Amino acid sequence: MNDFRADLHIHSNYSDGSCSPEELMIEVKNRGLQGLSITDHDTIAAYDEAVPLANKYDLLLLSGVEFSATRKGESVHILGYSFSLKSHSLRALCARHRQRRVERNIKIIEKLKKLGYEIDPRPFLAEDDNHKTWGRPHIAQALIEQGVVSSIQEAFDQYLAEGKKAYDPGEPILVEETIEAIHKAGGYAILAHPHLIKRERFVRELLQLDFDGIEGYYARLPSNQEQKWIRLAKERGWIITGGSDYHGSVKPYSQLGSSWVDETTFRILYDHFCSTQSLTD
Ligand code: AMP
Ligand code: ZN
Ligand code: FE
Ligand code: FE
Repeated sequence: MNDFRADLHIHSNYSDGSCSPEELMIEVKNRGLQGLSITDHDTIAAYDEAVPLANKYDLLLLSGVEFSATRKGESVHILGYSFSLKSHSLRALCARHRQRRVERNIKIIEKLKKLGYEIDPRPFLAEDDNHKTWGRPHIAQALIEQGVVSSIQEAFDQYLAEGKKAYDPGEPILVEETIEAIHKAGGYAILAHPHLIKRERFVRELLQLDFDGIEGYYARLPSNQEQKWIRLAKERGWIITGGSDYHGSVKPYSQLGSSWVDETTFRILYDHFCSTQSLTD
């Protein structure tokens, strides 16, 4: 099957995407893809719903997650793939992030209050919500509803982006411990969208760590820029993953399937996923 394509970077409404797992599967089908991974921020909660849906829609679903990590105060996103969905260490890391996000959201909302914008904190306390994660795009949406800003981008540019007045990083969870939890769960740890990391030296430092791969194909990244990451991954014998970072209407400029991996790469990841499924650690 030469036209096999799998989008390995997709957000559902279990984090800050706008589509339910079923809406995602329908869109994946409509775009003619055969495989996918749902990589929500710091949660694998979508999989309870997504696993039976993948059967229904005859799609290959690979376990995935996008963890928020920190190194020397800088934010680093790490994709995990092929891990066991039953892993205790991976679920424990998700639970830790859940607590981190509640505390962080409260701090961001307090900072906004000091700036004169009152947001109802209740949805951001993550109670009784099926383990969905709440983050800055949701707070941005609340600011739009209050008429403070007119777009999510404006909310980030004015208040929520790193270094802005209402930004708060939350408790740091380190890159190393994130890689370790993914490995304990039998999975592969992949450095997400490395082109978004500004400092070249910092990237070089990250590339010394125990990653298994790099996200080389990303959304609308021009192919000449992709080549740099593909070369670096090949030098190390690492896996090269790819995906659209689809968020639905939250980031309408990135279409599902705009980046993908071929059958050979998908098979490596998927066969490994099949072999880790009984692992609980
Ligand atoms: P959080 O998980 O709360 O840290 O929020 C991360 C999400 O916010 C990701 O989906 C990013 O795409 C989005 N985001 C981060 N920085 C920016 C920015 N400067 N402008 C727009 N969106 C951003
Ligand atoms: Zn996101
Ligand atoms: Fe990311
Ligand atoms: Fe993402």
